[in-house]
Amino acid sequence: MSDDHGERRIRDAAAQFGDCYGILTFTGENVRRRLSPSAVERFDRALQRGERLDPTIADEVANAMKDWAIDSGCTHYCHWFQPLTGSTAEKHDSFLSFDGNGQPITEFSGSQLIQAEPDASSFPSGGIRDTWEARGYTAWDPTSPAFIVRNGSERTLCIPTCFVSWTGESLDQKTPLLRSNDAISTQAMRALRFFGSDRGVSAVTTTLGVEQEYFLVDKELASMRPDLMLCGRTLMGADSPKGHQLDDHYFGSIPQNVLAYMADVEERLYQLGIPAKTRHNEVAPQQFELAPLCERSNVACDHQMLTMSVLKTVASNHGLHCLLHEKPFQGINGTGKHNNWSMTTDTGHNLLSPGKAGESNLQFLTFVCAVVRALDMHADILRASVANAGNDHRLGANEAPPAILSIYMGEELERVLEKLAAGETADFEAKSEIDLGTPAVPHLQRHAGDRNRTSPFAFIGNRFEFRAVGGLASIAWPNAVMNTIIAESLDWIVTKMEKQVDACGSIETAAIEVLGGVIREHQRVIFNGDNYSAEWHEEAERRGLPILKTTADALPAFRSDSVREMFQRYGVMSGAEVDIRVDVLFETYNHVIGIEARTMLQMIETLVLPAATRYQTEIATAIAATEAAGVECPTTGGRLHNLVGFVTGLEQAALDIQSAMDLVAGSPDEQAIVSQKELIPAMERARACCDTIESCVSADLWPLPTYTDLLFD
Ligand code: ADP
Ligand code: MG
Repeated sequence: MSDDHGERRIRDAAAQFGDCYGILTFTGENVRRRLSPSAVERFDRALQRGERLDPTIADEVANAMKDWAIDSGCTHYCHWFQPLTGSTAEKHDSFLSFDGNGQPITEFSGSQLIQAEPDASSFPSGGIRDTWEARGYTAWDPTSPAFIVRNGSERTLCIPTCFVSWTGESLDQKTPLLRSNDAISTQAMRALRFFGSDRGVSAVTTTLGVEQEYFLVDKELASMRPDLMLCGRTLMGADSPKGHQLDDHYFGSIPQNVLAYMADVEERLYQLGIPAKTRHNEVAPQQFELAPLCERSNVACDHQMLTMSVLKTVASNHGLHCLLHEKPFQGINGTGKHNNWSMTTDTGHNLLSPGKAGESNLQFLTFVCAVVRALDMHADILRASVANAGNDHRLGANEAPPAILSIYMGEELERVLEKLAAGETADFEAKSEIDLGTPAVPHLQRHAGDRNRTSPFAFIGNRFEFRAVGGLASIAWPNAVMNTIIAESLDWIVTKMEKQVDACGSIETAAIEVLGGVIREHQRVIFNGDNYSAEWHEEAERRGLPILKTTADALPAFRSDSVREMFQRYGVMSGAEVDIRVDVLFETYNHVIGIEARTMLQMIETLVLPAATRYQTEIATAIAATEAAGVECPTTGGRLHNLVGFVTGLEQAALDIQSAMDLVAGSPDEQAIVSQKELIPAMERARACCDTIESCVSADLWPLPTYTDLLFD
């Protein structure tokens, strides 16, 4: 049988899923082989259901984890956490210890597993900690499996942890997410009890499947652009004559080198127990997408951070550079994440799957109405949860959902909700058939509703898809916000239904009355049309929906007392924790814009202006030589004149950037406003000059790889 015989390849592929799946995670066989049966059971309960782990078995788990890690080639372990930097953090410790006789041994105790104390002073803390106030703690999260990261020949055991300040405030992405899941669970359980469907159910969890877009460019070319290296996006760059006008990249055949890269990424993800499922070319040239199967949201968030890291590391091994920034290139589509979200019971029932009729339908509609009410009442903070400097370039351009939050329900659900608003129930229609008119092709099943790609928040049959999350962002924060506002709405709705049932005695009547009222009051947030159109922006304004175009416009929504009180009420964040986060978000925004401004100035001074003046000299020399030879060259003189004009314009714009940078002062909130009003417009003017100069300077003098080089090489 030859090497590429089909059967052999299928066996290899099966082995890839079967043998390698999860080999680098402390789950399944890796746990069972090393723990006593009773410890396995308790550990499983903690992992699967989030039940508190009995501290008496922590030593046994730690020891088993250490043996597994050492057997797998690890010498070190780390508490792996997600500080407010937006990335992950790890400090490695070796398993080395000494026994009573001074002999070296390997050791990893339960207390080392459960708690560690990293220096917290260099992580963003929104000013609650000074540099000398260093103490912070990491605490093991047993609901997310420990895993081994390979880096060259090194292997490190990583233990997912929460990160808190010595003063008790959480300083990470994971903690509020975990707490928000508890809030959803409590309120969703009340809804299930109301409808009498809580039998055997002890918890409700949220599920996430996040579609990740990314760009791949040649590593060497990328390294020649300081903007890509320092900012993750091009700060200048004339349009390539070809972009995605022909729609020929979307779902096109995947280039061979990229497919090899994707297969490598997938293998690493499988090893880490990350269920990669979908891969394809996206709309823009050199843009691709990866989507996993859905998982419990806490695990999905950790896996999402790991996925981004794997995408970047593997790219480097393939001579590629992976860009996750929201807008690496002007003029073509940017990069987002589609955050598919649902709620499921621990018995496996998806609460956003419409039942056929009757009470199960009302239960489903209760969850849908909670989402509708949450989005209408808290659109501003959900919008703010995806605000960052990168996403400002994307939201509102005709490629990504606008900065206005609305929900797409689809015709079918819309019809059912309209009935509900009128005090009636309606069944969902069965799928119809599409006959393609040729007998050889089987009939297709048509869904009751169409899809809408322009909506920021869409119902997709059994889940909601929040499409405004940025490509580089952690999904933990938007999901913590989303869970909290939905928990709040569930609380409000169920409380009202419980009171109503006391008055009228019928679950169905009470539910219809309350849910109908919710739809009547909040239906302005439902929009099924084209969210990219100018008419929608006018309509949204008429409806009074918040239109928060930029980070500086959006983030202040978190400053309101009622918002801080809501996070506090549902145990997700204290007022101080909300403040910390918003301070850090503003500070990060200001730092990002500051880095971009300084990078741009450096590129203008050291790359663009020298190239432009060299070309200026070349033309001037050519004109002088031509005229000395007795030949007039008026059009070349015109070109020189234009070039000098562009160079003067750029020099002025560079001075404007410098003066705008000097104006950026005051609180983080104030700095963001100055950046938005003064600095960003100056950078945009400078960019326009750079791009015009790039379009007229001789290619052999241009010091940067162009858009054509990066996207079509
Ligand atoms: P499309 O691009 O058509 O939306 P994809 O297959 O690219 O579809 O992605 C769909 C995503 O939705 C996947 O990541 C999948 O895991 C996720 N998903 C499916 N069902 C659920 C669910 N119940 N909860 C959360 N995510 C889900
Ligand atoms: Mg997709």
